[in-house]
This record gives sequence, C-alpha cells and structure tokens, in this order.
Amino acid sequence: MAVFYNTLGKNKQVFVPLNPGKVGMYVCGPTVYDYAHVGNIRAYVFSDILRRVLEDEGYEVRMIKNITDVGHLTNDDLVQGDSGEDKMITKALKEKKTPLEIALFYEDYFHGMEKAMNILPAHYFPRATKHIQEIIRMIETLIARGHAYEANGNVFYDVTTFSTYGNLSGNKLENLQAGARLEEHPDKRNAWDFALWLKAPEGHIMHWSSPWSEGYPGWHIECSAMSQEYLGDTLDIHTGGEDHIFPHHEAEIAQSEGTTDKLFSRFFLHVRHMLIDGEKMSKSKGNFYTLEDIVEKGYEAMDLRMLFLGAHYRSQMNFTWDALSQAKKNRETLENTRQRLSRASIQAAGFRGDAELLKIREALQDDLNTPLALTHILELCKTINTKLDAGESLDTARLILVFQIIYTVLGLRESNEEALPEEIVALVEKRKQARLDKDFALSDTLRDEIGALGYKVEDTTTGQIVNKK
Ligand code: AMP
Ligand code: ZN
Repeated sequence: MAVFYNTLGKNKQVFVPLNPGKVGMYVCGPTVYDYAHVGNIRAYVFSDILRRVLEDEGYEVRMIKNITDVGHLTNDDLVQGDSGEDKMITKALKEKKTPLEIALFYEDYFHGMEKAMNILPAHYFPRATKHIQEIIRMIETLIARGHAYEANGNVFYDVTTFSTYGNLSGNKLENLQAGARLEEHPDKRNAWDFALWLKAPEGHIMHWSSPWSEGYPGWHIECSAMSQEYLGDTLDIHTGGEDHIFPHHEAEIAQSEGTTDKLFSRFFLHVRHMLIDGEKMSKSKGNFYTLEDIVEKGYEAMDLRMLFLGAHYRSQMNFTWDALSQAKKNRETLENTRQRLSRASIQAAGFRGDAELLKIREALQDDLNTPLALTHILELCKTINTKLDAGESLDTARLILVFQIIYTVLGLRESNEEALPEEIVALVEKRKQARLDKDFALSDTLRDEIGALGYKVEDTTTGQIVNKK
C-alpha cells in the first residue's frame, strides 16, 4: 500500500481510493502559449510516475489533464490570480496569429513533448475554451449559493463565505490581509476575492457571452468545472507544481466545495520547482531550456527522465549539465545491463532479483522515493554484471521481466536493440523530409507503408520514434 505526502494535512498518508480499484486523478495541465520548459516537464513526469506507481499496484487510473487555452490572467510573479496581462493574447498580437492558432500550435507541441518523454497520455485533455458553458453554470451556482457576487459585469468569489479558505496553503485570511501584495480591482469586496468571470475590455480578443457580460473566465474556475465534468465531485488525487498551492488550488477547493458541499480532492500532491542557477526556471523570466535544447547537446529524452528520477519530487532541483551527464551514465548502465541480460543464454535457475524488486517497489510506494529506488536499481545492475562476469547462474528470464517492470514503472523507454532494417530506415528518412516540406499527405502515406511492414512510427518534438509493432 502506498503512502503519499498530502499537502492537505501536510503529512504522509496511506492512499486508499474512494472506489475500490479505481483512481480518479486530475493534473493541472499546460497553459499553451509557449514551449514547455524543463521545469514544466519535471511536473508532468512526476504525475506520470505517480500514475505508473499506482498502476503497478494494480489500480485502474483515470487521468484528466486540462489544456488552458484561454490566456492566463496571472504573471508568475503575481500572487493573486486575477491581475496581470493576458500572456496568450500578448503573444498572439506579437506573432500576428489568432490566440486559438497559438494555442493549437503549442498544444500540439506539448503532446509531442509528452510522447518523447514517454509520458502516458491522459485519458482526456479537456480544453478550457470548449467548456465555457460548464464554467458559466458553476459560476451561477456559486452566486445562487451566496459564494460569489457580480459587479459591473465581473463576478468574484467572496472568500469570506468559505470558512476553510486557506487550509491547503496555510494562508489564512487574517495573515493574508496583513501581508497583502495584490492588485486592487475596484469591484472587489475583499482584497483576496478572486475573479470567476471578467468583462472583456475593449480590444480583448477572446470573449464569450454570459449572463453578466461579454467576457472570459478567471483562471481557477476551469479546473473546478472540468474536473467535475470528467471525474465527478470528489477526486482521489490532484497534482500540480508548488506554485499551484496558492492561489490556484486554494481557489479550486473553494469553488468546487462551494458548489457541491463535498470534499473536492482527497489528496493534493505538489512537485517542487526546478531551479536554474538558483532561480526558478520560468517562461516569464525567459531563463529556460526546452527538450530540444537538451537533445541538441547530445542527450536523449530518457536522460532527462533519469535526471528527474535522481531527485525526490518534494525537493527543489537545480538543473546542471553535469547532473544531466551523470544521469545519462546511469541510464546507460541500466540499458547495458538489460541488453546484456537479453543476450545471455537462457537459464532458469539462480539469482532472480526478487528481493531487489521488492525494495524498489517499497521505495516508490513510500511517497515516490525515486532516488532511493534508483540506488537499488543501480545496485541490482552491479550485482547482475558481477555475476555475469563470474559466469554464475542467473534466472535470466525472470530478470528480464524484472527489468520490464522497472522500465514500465519508471517510464523508461528501451533503446532500439536491433537496428532497423534498411528498408524502414529509408522510409523513415523519406518521411522526415516530407515533414520538413510540410507534405503531410506523403508523410501519412509513408507512415502507412512503414506500418504495413510491421513498424510503428510516432512523432515527437525530437523526431520520429520507430518501433516494432
Ligand atoms: P504552466 O504551463 O506555466 O501552467 O506550468 C505547467 C506546470 O509546470 C505546472 O504544474 C507548474 O506548476 C509547473 N512548473 C512551472 N514552473 C516550474 C518549475 N520551474 N519547476 C517545476 N515545475 C514547474
Ligand atoms: Zn488547475
């Protein structure tokens, strides 16, 4: 049975889902106005590992990850969610594209990045702009229940009506008032009220009609509306980055529980930030690397995954190239051992690695202790290699299976063991050119040809991945 550190309660708690055998999991997904950076990727890999550990335990996990394709209302540096410029719209104006074109472009990019990182796709990726009606309905309920008020076409959540506001973050209203650092809005009753709906100012590109004004939703409401739509009133697990604890998740709790009177999420897990030169890696600061930057320097997506595994998700992590090259070495050790095993002659008796696998699983189930799991894995590799060198007998079939389990639970991809046949390589090259020429019809035909020969091709942000079907 797994234990996870729950931000609600701030301690490790035994995880048992609401419905036996099934886990409903909501992940705050990307704001699609820019490339995902290594910090963002860390957040998505963390949620992926959490899901994989639960699946390894035998649960059926349903994962929903939203796509924020309405411009965020916040700058990373602002603490309150309803002030600041609308980044997606600013970018659209700069690039002379419509906000929806921008959003689709970066959404596509996001999926390609997830594939390259071997992140299991969510069961559904709801888009905020496709759920404006659900959002409006929820705001109406909040107004009817006295949690929200309208003023001049804007609607705000009155935080004083929700007695447990601040429980998740520890930011109780008394303290908040004292250290208030937020932008005023003339229509707000209390400084810490947050926007549910805002009237679109002149020139604002994205807007919808609503009972209050032609406008757009606040940033927090989409997650409450969409999680309810796809996972029901109570989630088992909600994840996000540490920057989400306040105000975003605090606001989600107030909105969802203010609507249903039921517990919104039983567990909240938050991944700490990735730093670069001691500073938070962020889109608004521009101090970030993308997956492509890393591949350009000769690393693989799986080296980056290995780097993440080396640090616990609740510890801050500083990105350095040295650490990445150490991660690459570790991945090579693992991969070389796996390949050595699969080349070894079949043996049925001897060392099986069962106790080692148990230790690895125990580490992962203890609040996803990936660094400890990794230590055990590297020790296992050492033991296997020593035994192979000494010609000792190993249960190779069993050990290959152990490696498969380890790769699956950590989301590591095996490198292509056998070289691809020349025929396939030629088709893949041709397809690469077709994609560069934006000849997508030809690219699709070539994919089918490759498929007919028994190979599956996937497009990622770092190129095509080809595997035997
Ligand atoms: P965004 O697309 O900006 O909404 O961020 C996507 C995800 O990445 C969220 O879960 C954030 O909390 C997370 N995130 C943003 N910056 C970092 C960082 N430097 N390190 C780790 N996670 C981050
Ligand atoms: Zn969210």
